[in-house]
Amino acid sequence: MLRKRILINGVVQGVGFRPFIYKSALKFRLSGFVQNTSAGVITEAQGSKENINKFILFIKQNCPPQAKIEDLKITDIKEKKEKGFLIIASKKDNIQTVFLPPDLAMCKDCGKEILNPKDRRFLYPLTNCTNCGPRLSITKTLPYDRKATTMSKFKMCPACQKEYESPNSRRFHAQPNACPVCGPQVFFKFKNKNFKGLKALKTAAVFLDKGKITAVKSIGGYHLACDAKNPKAVTSLRLSKKRPYKPLAIMFKDLKTAKKYCFINKIEARALLSPAAPIVIVKKKKELKLISDNLNNYGIMLPYTPLHKILFSLLKTDVLVMTSGNAKGGALCSGDGEAFKKLSKIADGFLYHEREIYNKVDDSIMFEALGKMRFIRRARGFAPLPATLAKKAKKSILALGADKTAAFCLVKENKAYLSQYIGDLNKKENGGFYLTALEKNKRLLGINPQVTIADLHPGYFTNKLPFKNVNKIQHHAAHALSVAAEHNLKGRFLAVNLDGSGLGSDGAIWGGEFLAFNNKNWKRAAYFEPLPLPAGDESVSEIWLLTLGAIKKIYGKDWTNYKYLFKNVPRQKFRLALKLIDNGINVYNSSSAGRVFDIVSHIALGITKTTYQAQAAMELEAKCLRLKSPYKVVMEKQNGCYIIKTGEMLKEILSYSRSAEEISARFHAYMVYSVLETAKKLKLKNICLSGGVFQNKVLLKGTVNVLKRAGFNVYLNEQTPCNDGGLALGQAWNMV
Ligand SMILES: [Zn+2]
Ligand SMILES: [Zn+2]
Repeated sequence: MLRKRILINGVVQGVGFRPFIYKSALKFRLSGFVQNTSAGVITEAQGSKENINKFILFIKQNCPPQAKIEDLKITDIKEKKEKGFLIIASKKDNIQTVFLPPDLAMCKDCGKEILNPKDRRFLYPLTNCTNCGPRLSITKTLPYDRKATTMSKFKMCPACQKEYESPNSRRFHAQPNACPVCGPQVFFKFKNKNFKGLKALKTAAVFLDKGKITAVKSIGGYHLACDAKNPKAVTSLRLSKKRPYKPLAIMFKDLKTAKKYCFINKIEARALLSPAAPIVIVKKKKELKLISDNLNNYGIMLPYTPLHKILFSLLKTDVLVMTSGNAKGGALCSGDGEAFKKLSKIADGFLYHEREIYNKVDDSIMFEALGKMRFIRRARGFAPLPATLAKKAKKSILALGADKTAAFCLVKENKAYLSQYIGDLNKKENGGFYLTALEKNKRLLGINPQVTIADLHPGYFTNKLPFKNVNKIQHHAAHALSVAAEHNLKGRFLAVNLDGSGLGSDGAIWGGEFLAFNNKNWKRAAYFEPLPLPAGDESVSEIWLLTLGAIKKIYGKDWTNYKYLFKNVPRQKFRLALKLIDNGINVYNSSSAGRVFDIVSHIALGITKTTYQAQAAMELEAKCLRLKSPYKVVMEKQNGCYIIKTGEMLKEILSYSRSAEEISARFHAYMVYSVLETAKKLKLKNICLSGGVFQNKVLLKGTVNVLKRAGFNVYLNEQTPCNDGGLALGQAWNMV
């Protein structure tokens, strides 16, 4: 007879771990207990040596589907006189090493129950179990217990309580456990009317089928929904959301339906059906008008809550627009009162429920490239899971992230917790979201940062916050380190950053950078030729200004030969811009790779003005069916730095007229080969690629392939987005 104490860490709470331990202990006839603590799951097991060893092996090999054991510490302790095996109440410790699971999409078993007329949860939209349902979005503190969640105000009925207490039930200690008798109710609000329960769901379905816009409360926030097959409904949503062209995410009834409209490979299908259930960018098969015009892909998802699933069972349409529930310029709505107020000008009705969202978390967005799913936005289904670093931080760290695609990162020891995606901090409401999320994450993770690090840019929201002794790091160096952190890249390596923009260490605006690293030290080794950004920020959307600035620089007086490129620009605006450029007023130069995409899009597609970030680049990518022979890569060396002469490439494009497809194919190849040629000159074997421009699948695949073929080792962001949403991890790694 012996007794062992086992401390288990990882994703072990809120995923049916204790019942699993309980059942395993009974299986091997052990006595003892299991308990949730903020230091991990603790179990003490007593029995024969053989059975205890079998028990430990069994735990390691058979843990529940959503659980992940990171660490298992075993110590021998003194035997006790006891009978049976117990699950005892949670204990709060000072050390928090347990990971709260992210929100989980509905599991198959719950999916069957809600559509089974004989089940007591038939058509109950807040059904969940230990394998699925809300987690982060409802949790206020750890350890994860019902009283620590927003479900604490609902008292379980005897039937639910019985499930909760029965180790053989799928709902044993399922903290958000609920049923139609005792749980939160669903409502549909329309003008002054308010329907409840099934009536609410049915009315909402009729509403949507009639082409009305409905706000739908999901796991981490509200969606704005309408029938994706009804162009009138979509137009009205676009108009009221002031979102004329930006692609809208859509939700299909099921995978089979999705496959009628999209090409979906195995990796993408697996992601769509996974517990994280992100929005996946997939190739179009059949056009749905106004959803993502001028692009050849859709952002799609499948129903991931019982409410979605039930709604589709009542709907005639099999695809809904499900876009984030925010008004233009506002943050995602998660509170009911907030949604009623802010979305009232957009939505005709509100389908909502009484389960409160404590942590706001938007849908994640991913795409498949090179055999793996990659992040565009990391949020629901992933936050707050940490990345494990190869080295322990001596002090806990707060990295503040970027500005346009904000997310912060908290580090304690070797765990880096990248926050959920926050959004554009230039929008006032998102600033509030950022600060609230920061406070909540600090509390939830038990991290009190001792050091802080931010981007160099003084204009960033994060640099206006009252933090003291803030360390600074250059934008593209942080991008590079986000990859280095994930792969524990040391020694000498080359970081290729193709990005929108970031403040350079020389005060200029950078964005097409080749940084030579030695561990965490770096120097600028090559960059794209700086081209003018006339009229400052205006050129971000009025992209013809970039072309005008570029051709004036390249051709000097002869620029007038290319005046035809601006025939669609209002004459007064054009004259004013010329004046500004000629007098050098408000004209900065930038080595941004993103801006080069804008110029080429303007030349190839005639786009003069964009309405959402990266629109021009995305439409240009859509025209590239496969890479063709690249435009000539011209480089020169200045002060020990290589400059890629993008001006020469623009000259080549403008020297003869070609189709948009041809220009796009040759230009994408040019970008790929300019990376390869530069890498060959710089002779560093290990290369990491980062920056938002690498969300371009054609560019990413092309670049990785040619670099690998040339014998380079290529490293990419895997657990974080390559855009500014992953920047905070790199900032943090600089301090580890
Ligand atoms: Zn379930
Ligand atoms: Zn109940």
